[in-house]
Amino acid sequence: MRIVLMGPPGVGKGTQAVRLSEKLGVVHVSTGDILREAVADGTGLGKKVREYLESGQLVPDGLMGDLIAERLGQDDARGGFILDGFPRTLEQIAILDRVLRRLGVELDVAVELVADEAEIIRRLGGRRVCPQCRQVYHLENRPPKAAGVCDACGSALVQRPDDEESVIRDRLEVFARQTRPVHDAYGQRGLLKEVDGHGDPADVFERVAGLMERV
Ligand code: AMP
Repeated sequence: MRIVLMGPPGVGKGTQAVRLSEKLGVVHVSTGDILREAVADGTGLGKKVREYLESGQLVPDGLMGDLIAERLGQDDARGGFILDGFPRTLEQIAILDRVLRRLGVELDVAVELVADEAEIIRRLGGRRVCPQCRQVYHLENRPPKAAGVCDACGSALVQRPDDEESVIRDRLEVFARQTRPVHDAYGQRGLLKEVDGHGDPADVFERVAGLMERV
């Protein structure tokens, strides 16, 4: 299956995408993860995109187009994929259309996870990550065994710079302004399915998995 997973930052796309990729046996392609890794590794791409990531702004479409064409062209994406965090603009929809046409495949569904703003700020504000092994924690929902320390590798946990409250608000604003049209465009094509993103990740996953059976 070829799936686009959408929704505002913090709605739980990453968590749901990982579970869904395991269930369906298709790769999880997170553009945010690819970009963060490029920044952490200090690659040419990383240097170009660092400021956008830290301020919560969208990376220019040209750079994103090259990235996605390369990633979806790799062998492990042949059997299907879950795209997490792409497309985020109308231009990126057009880019994805071109890439898929070249590969001779089509999108099956665009799933949008929906949650209200207060819930998103609570989730993102409490998120902590391990800079070493990239485990993700939450101060309330998934606290580490020892405060501030990664269970898996013992490193000190950090807050992503773009999870600070002022940046969260900017990211939500960017989402509302630039990503709404993507929602509308997939809606017009009849590809959009909305899923309630409130509640426990396991409950949300049941809803997502149930939906997949009907696609
Ligand atoms: P995410 O982890 O999906 O919230 O992405 C983190 C950051 O990476 C975003 O705030 C953007 O700066 C950048 N990013 C990720 N995906 C895209 C995309 N499709 N287009 C532009 N920028 C992106």
